Order: sequence, then structure tokens, then C-alpha cells
Amino acid sequence: MGTTVFERQRPAASVIERSLAGTRQSIFWLDDLPDQPHRPALRGTHDADLVIVGGGYTGLWTALLARRRDPDLRIALVEARTVGWAASGRNGGFCEASLTHGRDNGLSRWPEEIETLDRMGMKNLDAMGADIEEWGIDAEWERVGALAVATEPHQLEWLDDWAHDSAARGEDGVVRLDREQVQAAVSSPTYLGAVFETHSNALVHPGKLATGLARAAEERGVEIFEHSPVRRIDTSGDGVEVITNGGRISARKAVLATNVFPSLLRRNTLMTVPVYDYVLMTEPLSAEQRAAIGWDQRQGLSDLANQFHYFRQTADGRILFGGYDAVYHYGGRVRAAYENRPESFSKLASHFFTMFPQLEGVRFTHRWAGAIDTCSRFCAFFGSARDGKVAYAAGFTGLGVAATRFAGEVMLDLLHGVPTARTSLRMVREKPLPFPPEPVAAIGINATRWSLDRADHNRGRRNVLLKTLDALGLGFDS
Ligand SMILES: Cc1cc2nc3c(=O)[nH]c(=O)nc-3n(C[C@H](O)[C@H](O)[C@H](O)COP(=O)(O)OP(=O)(O)OC[C@H]3O[C@@H](n4cnc5c(N)ncnc54)[C@H](O)[C@@H]3O)c2cc1C
Repeated sequence: MGTTVFERQRPAASVIERSLAGTRQSIFWLDDLPDQPHRPALRGTHDADLVIVGGGYTGLWTALLARRRDPDLRIALVEARTVGWAASGRNGGFCEASLTHGRDNGLSRWPEEIETLDRMGMKNLDAMGADIEEWGIDAEWERVGALAVATEPHQLEWLDDWAHDSAARGEDGVVRLDREQVQAAVSSPTYLGAVFETHSNALVHPGKLATGLARAAEERGVEIFEHSPVRRIDTSGDGVEVITNGGRISARKAVLATNVFPSLLRRNTLMTVPVYDYVLMTEPLSAEQRAAIGWDQRQGLSDLANQFHYFRQTADGRILFGGYDAVYHYGGRVRAAYENRPESFSKLASHFFTMFPQLEGVRFTHRWAGAIDTCSRFCAFFGSARDGKVAYAAGFTGLGVAATRFAGEVMLDLLHGVPTARTSLRMVREKPLPFPPEPVAAIGINATRWSLDRADHNRGRRNVLLKTLDALGLGFDS
């Protein structure tokens, strides 16, 4: 078994300790927001045409897209805590055009519709940028593209295949960079080469996007209730009734945008599992530190291992560094206690200084974690229930910042009941396999994680378990 560059070139323990000494367990993106409006909890009885459960991107995009489709629709959104507090306020802010958690995943599952999916994904990303502009949302949207960097020699072949395949399709948005070229773009002794995706990625400030969408929705007449966990959804009468401890909303239709949290539909309870992903944020870099890494084009970056890192700059010149550990806890629950995992933060800090030894001395100000809604096909699934009165989408698996907008359109199509190009996709019609109940889920997921780690230490070679899961179209990702 080999070692990775992050194990061979470890910084001194004192460098890691010092960098983490003043870190707060707090989400930078939410700390960085201006004061937010106080929104009421749901009390008493209300009527609406459309009620949406969940105030992350999925629910908020759905509200705004529904308003665009019908200016007279009465729309209410009910959020258990505050808008954007969950995955939507704590992610990396990478907006990828892919609707399928990467092209390879989509290609392996729906080869005959991959070109349509590519086209729809790019259209969705373009529309996302246009919506942000139209609604005046200051989300620090930057269409800067993304660099995927190889940090191990065997990954260079993957970059070659990637660039070759996209050139063969006539695409001009994938540029292969050799070692000197990638080092010139971003200076790290660990980078051996890269692919630069020039069009298909953007960056946002996740918290500003979520709260900006909420503001835009309210300005357009959407009623938002916070601190109101929905206990159940009743569809016994003509429409639907969404019920909280303090009130209820009767509506014609409902959208469930509850992501990794327990589904209000029994059929979906085993469809996703929470996988904890960890993030560090540095202090703003000094001018000398900036000059030492280059990175003038500000692309989003990630590396190519199964256990990968993602990293990017903020508007005020910090670096967000996240990923690598993807931790599933027995029982599959979402718990605040899982968010503080010192060994994951130390590992991230260690890997950061292996990647950027010239930044020794930089301190991390924030550390946090979030639950990713992993499903067994690694990309969102959609559906309707209760005689077409309820639509749902979940399972974005770590790539939902842009795909949630597409999901909003799909759910509105489903509620409308008239087939569209979106709802005709196999990707939309088919469902993933559920995860098994415990203890099988934990055994299977942890065995898969262990195998992915071994593959990263063995020139990417996949063992029998991973090959079997690949053949079945199943697995685990973040
Ligand atoms: C650490 C981390 C990093 C990530 N990085 C990226 C990235 O860089 N790029 C990318 O594309 N994706 C990324 N993702 C994934 C992305 O953030 C999610 O796919 C996306 O935010 C999902 O949005 P959502 O609205 O479906 O879910 P959420 O943001 O989780 O919102 C769901 C909301 O529903 C509410 N809710 C749930 N149940 C109820 C109920 N019963 N009653 C009322 N309200 C309820 C919750 O309180 C929550 O606010 C990351 C995720 C994490 C955790």
C-alpha cells in the first residue's frame, strides 16, 4: 500500500496546532451576513395555493420559480429553523453545471440522455446567474471556472482522458494544463497537472445566496415562516394540509424540500443518508501571502482523489479548505454533536500546509461541518405523491448549489401534471435504490469508505467491493 503526498509531506505538528489555536466552531458564511429580518413562526390557520416545506435553496428556488410562472399564486414557505441554516448556508459555494454529480456519473447511468443533461445543466447554470442578477441578489457570483488538480502521478492519466473525451465531443471548455501551467495558475508543489473547466462552474457566497433568495421571494409576495418544524402533511381532503405544533396551512399543492432531514413521506425515509463534511476557513491573507500562491483568476479548485479536497477564495481574500473526510455516523441521524470532529479539522489543516507550505503561519478563524444528503445514485431524485398533490426532490449528494434550481423547475412541472422535457428524462423518472436499514447501512457505507481510501493509496485501483458496486450502479460519495 502506498502513501499519498499528504502523508509523505506532513507539516510539523506545531504548524498545525498554531494554525487552529484561535479557530471558532462557527459557519463563516452565516457570520458574514448582515442582520437578517425576524420572520414569524407559523401560528393559527392559513390558506395558500402552494406550500413549500424547507427554506434551503431547493425550497427558495421553487418559491421564486413558482412566482415567475404565476404572479397570482399564493405561496407560503415553512422552515424548521431559519432560512439557509443547513447545507445551503454552509457549503463550498461551488456551482457546477452538472445535474448528475459530475458527467461520468450521468454518463454511466443515462448514456442516451447525457447530451440533453449536459445542455440542460449548462442552461440551468446560465439561468441561475441571470436570476441572481434580475433579483438583485448580492451573492458574490463569480463565473471563474474550476481547476481539477492531480496530486498523484496516476491521476494524470485521468486528466488526459478527461481532456481527450471532451475534445472528441467538440467542447472547448476543458483545457488540460501541464505541471508548469498549473503551477503558474496556482502555486503548490503538490500539483502535477490539471484540467481547467472554463465555462461550467461559478462560485457564490452560500449564505448570501440563501438569504438573498429569501428576500427576493418575500419582495414578490411569498410568505416565509421560520422556527416552524412541520410535523406531518395531511392529504385526506381536497388539497394538502401542512401541520406544525403552532399552526397549519391548507393549500392545493405542496413541495417537500427537506433534503437530508427525515422525510415527511415514509417512502423516502431510507433514500438518503447524512454524510458529514468538514470545512476550515483561513483569516484574510496578506498581500505577500497572496503573491506567494498566485491564484489571480480565483477559480474554484478540487483534487482528484476519491477522498478529495475542495478549496476557494472569498471576497475578502480568505481560503476555504474543505472535504477529504466524509463521515457517516451509525443510525443516520443529523446531530449538531457530529459537527465538531477535531481529527478531521487537524487533518484538513495538515493537508492545507502540505499543499501551500508557503502559507505557514496562516491561521484558521472558522471551522464547521454539514450533513450532505447522499443517495445511492449520487444525484437528486424527484417524484410526486398523494395523487400528484405533493412533489419532492432530495439526494443532491454534495453538488446541489446549482442543481437545486433545476429541481425546483422539475417539482413545479410535476405538480402541473403536464409532461415536459425535464419530467420525461429517465434521470427524473427513475428512483435510486434505498439504503438498507441499520446495522447493514453502517457496515456497507464504512466498508465502501475504507475501500475508497485504499484505492487512493493504491494508484486509484478499485477493489472487488468497489468494482461490484460500480457494476450495480451503487455506492457512496460526498
Ligand atoms: C459542508 C458542505 C459542503 C457542500 N459544498 C457544496 C458545493 O460546494 N457545491 C455544491 O453544489 N453543493 C455543495 N453542498 C451540497 C449543497 O449545499 C446542498 O445540496 C444544497 O444546499 C441542498 O439544498 P436544500 O435546500 O435541498 O437543503 P438544505 O439547505 O439542507 O435545506 C433543507 C431545509 O429544510 C428544512 N426542513 C427539513 N425538514 C423540515 C420540516 N419537517 N419542517 C420544516 N423545515 C424542514 C431544514 O431546516 C433546512 O433548512 C455541500 C453541502 C455541505 C453540507
